[in-house]
Amino acid sequence: MLKSHNCGELNGNHAGQKVILAGWVHRRRDHGGKVFIDLRDREGIVQVVFNPQISQEAYEVAGSLRSEYVVQVTGEVAIRPKGTENRKLATGDIEVIAREAAILNPSKTPPFYISEDEEVEESLCLKNRYLYLRRPRLKENLILRHRVIKFIRDFLDAKGFVEIETPILIKSTPEGARDYLVPSRINPGKFYALPQSPQQLKQLLMVAGFDKYFQIARCFRDEDLRADRQPEFTQLDLEMSFVEAPDILQLMEELFTSLVKTVKPGMRLVEPFPRLSYKEATERFGTDKPDTRFGLEIRDISDISANTDFQIFRSALANNGKVKGICVPGCGHYTRHQLDELIGLAKSCGAQGLVTMAFAGEAVTVDEVKSAAAKYLTPGQLKEIADRFEIKPDDLLLMVADKPVIVNKTLDELRRQMAQRLSLADASLLAFSFVVDFPFLEWNEAENRWEPMHHPFTAPRWEDVGLLDSEPARVHGQHYDVVCNGCELGSGSVRIHNRQFQEKVFSLLGYSKEEAESRFGGFLEALEYGAPPHGGIAIGLDRLVMLLAGERSIREVIAFPKNQNAVDVMLDSPSYVDKHQLDELNLRPKREVLRSQ
Ligand code: ASP
Repeated sequence: MLKSHNCGELNGNHAGQKVILAGWVHRRRDHGGKVFIDLRDREGIVQVVFNPQISQEAYEVAGSLRSEYVVQVTGEVAIRPKGTENRKLATGDIEVIAREAAILNPSKTPPFYISEDEEVEESLCLKNRYLYLRRPRLKENLILRHRVIKFIRDFLDAKGFVEIETPILIKSTPEGARDYLVPSRINPGKFYALPQSPQQLKQLLMVAGFDKYFQIARCFRDEDLRADRQPEFTQLDLEMSFVEAPDILQLMEELFTSLVKTVKPGMRLVEPFPRLSYKEATERFGTDKPDTRFGLEIRDISDISANTDFQIFRSALANNGKVKGICVPGCGHYTRHQLDELIGLAKSCGAQGLVTMAFAGEAVTVDEVKSAAAKYLTPGQLKEIADRFEIKPDDLLLMVADKPVIVNKTLDELRRQMAQRLSLADASLLAFSFVVDFPFLEWNEAENRWEPMHHPFTAPRWEDVGLLDSEPARVHGQHYDVVCNGCELGSGSVRIHNRQFQEKVFSLLGYSKEEAESRFGGFLEALEYGAPPHGGIAIGLDRLVMLLAGERSIREVIAFPKNQNAVDVMLDSPSYVDKHQLDELNLRPKREVLRSQ
């Protein structure tokens, strides 16, 4: 090795020892005839002192060092003089007195600071990703990711799970997104699909008798990107035979609890994880992925609103709508401008407006309440509303009267925004919960057909099977989600394990017999060979690490992410390919595309 120690491992116990270090120049300072270098490697940072009285040669090398030069330094570890210790550095009690120094490789000036954590324009940090990854925060994130994966592997291994890889070139498996397709050269005109998930393959492993499977699986979904989306992402994919939904949830609870306690002992959990029904989650929080770290829960005031003279409430109710709201503490003094901002936010969620009601004074009387609605409400109605929200002085009520989906969406957004403004969510808390009892199907208004709420392999609740033909909307699925701090971390279900029943569900979802056969023929046949009852789950690993790292975007925990347009700007991918490659694949770009090249 070109070094004897790592920079970050040195401490007082090494005092007097000769060390050889190699790393990057993190910072350089010239002080009163000496040069100080913060030398950085993966393990940390240590201060190196170049004193011409000790080595003129090394001092001269130090003079030519710049940020991010790679250097090798030989010297002795010394306890820092009293008063010059650096409490912020793990190695802050000591320094290395340089005797020799050699530049192993110079560096161009980086386009952004490595030593500061200031924000960098996204295109820059993606283009020079290898530099961005040198930043200590990013480095820690990737190491945390490694620890999380290692913990999961060890945990599941100890529980008797077997990790099995499944292929990347497969056939389409529906998870609600577009497929990435790969043309086959050897089979002209035919395409592989990249897995949106290993769903059918993991079920086939259950048929094969591997009753506890898992995989750290790469999945690909061609969808429009958002902050927490990437065209390719990693799942902890898992499947078990002979289980029911509570067994999977219990396993997940144990996994997450022990994971957090091991890799993030400073973070708190709410134990046991609450189980919320889909109905309860949407009623209380307006969403099936609630942030349960804070209150601001939604209350329904449709019953009170129905008796008022307030036209906005009444017409929403007449159109099968609802009137619901949240009570935000300490915002009763909001200015017109601040309220207008909230109204704008509500409108951006599709709501026609937002009814605000400020309780500035002590008493809840018509005169003390500031709201456009107040004059249409009797003192009794006002009191009823105030009681329902358990109003306190300086509270602000935000109410939406609209179609139920819009009411929920708007109040969910307002809840999140207000919690952020008021710092209501404890950053050290990981509030996991399980959402259960989802509807089995969802009506697709635009296409006039039923869609699976999860995916087509999910089983309905066995006791609801009789309703499938007569009242499909009332059937619940054996589907569950894991939610944490307002983020959907994963989903899973108990599966259908019988061919006839799977065919019935396919037909309910609008697949013709031929279509079901051509898309899922092999899978359907496998169900006829003694498929065991089984179920599983998949957890978004990028999101899990993002939450553990306290980051806001999964890009901060992925080594080489793509940008908003699904482009890898560092490697310049996707890119055009040679014509002969396209010929081999029997592909010809459309003329318009060719013209733009
Ligand atoms: N394949 C599903 C998904 O990717 C998870 C599961 O049902 O296990 O969401």
